[in-house]
Amino acid sequence: MTANFSFQRLAKCSQTHARVGIFSTPHGVVETPRFMPVGTLASVKTLTPSQLKDTGAQMILSNTYHLHLQPGEDIVAGSGGLHKFMGWDGPILTDSGGFQVFSLSKMRKVTEEGVTFRSPHDGKIIELTPERSIEIQNILGADVIMAFDECPSHISTYEEVEAATARTYRWLERCILSHKRLDQALFGIVQGGIYLDLRSQAVVDLEKFDLHGYAIGGVSVGEEPDMIRKIVQDTAPLLPVNKPRYLMGVGTYKEMIMAIASGMDIFDCVIPTRWARHGTAMVKGERWNLKNAQFRRDFSPIDADCPCYTCQNFTRAYLSHLVRSQEILAYTLLSIHNITELIQFTQKVRNSILNDHFTKQFAQWLN
Ligand SMILES: [Zn+2]
Repeated sequence: MTANFSFQRLAKCSQTHARVGIFSTPHGVVETPRFMPVGTLASVKTLTPSQLKDTGAQMILSNTYHLHLQPGEDIVAGSGGLHKFMGWDGPILTDSGGFQVFSLSKMRKVTEEGVTFRSPHDGKIIELTPERSIEIQNILGADVIMAFDECPSHISTYEEVEAATARTYRWLERCILSHKRLDQALFGIVQGGIYLDLRSQAVVDLEKFDLHGYAIGGVSVGEEPDMIRKIVQDTAPLLPVNKPRYLMGVGTYKEMIMAIASGMDIFDCVIPTRWARHGTAMVKGERWNLKNAQFRRDFSPIDADCPCYTCQNFTRAYLSHLVRSQEILAYTLLSIHNITELIQFTQKVRNSILNDHFTKQFAQWLN
């Protein structure tokens, strides 16, 4: 543990596990609960860092697997590290590459040592081990780095998930031993698939190490929404109360509310920018396709209550025109709105927990 990081719990809901906290990092604070935008390739798609800052973004997420393949960590280091490379001076989290290796790459081979796979760029064989993943993340220089884990698919058998979870624990020990930078916080990841006994054993194992934070991984990988809910509701309350808790890959209203009520603090998801590129606006938990005829002559903003640059300056009619014309500005303006929408949502939840009317204010999402 170092003085560079701290997590303070400021308030707790009287009826659920929901909590408000402040996670301090070398590049600033993260007020939790908080949604984190995803900048896979050191860029939150179509947004400049200043546009991103205006959405209320605090910590953003970037991707070790993708940055290792392109441009390579040495080029990021050559420009002074990830913050300088991408012009973002706020907190950054990099994931370990585990999820991408297991979900994207074909022809992978898993051994106790690590994973070998073929680069989708040039077909070259690449080996990623716990040591190598941490080394790459140390070179990239994000504030928070993630342990390298084995993320089993949701159709794996109990025995397969059990073996993957045990291996994830052994890999965590190797991650801790190879982690070299005190200005980076290492988070461990709870795996265990859909099996609650494996999840709770994983928490017990992880807690043997005094890590800076804990994540629940391997959810939202194709299982039923009810199952995601069950995993998070059963696992989150087991995690240490004095550390930040990160639910990986989740970012809809309903999922975030359920996770916040279970005691999770930070979230990431690609949907606000991905849906923006499909011409979809996120409005109070709904999805609106701006290509729909009803928006062509609609001269109101996407959401009159939204403080974002897009809603303050443009109409649905204009955005509908941009989307129909496939103008790149459409994707920028919709990404600004969608990210602001999710961050505002987590901010409203935060305020409601501070005032202890979370369950009342968000009752419609809690059922
Ligand atoms: Zn807006």
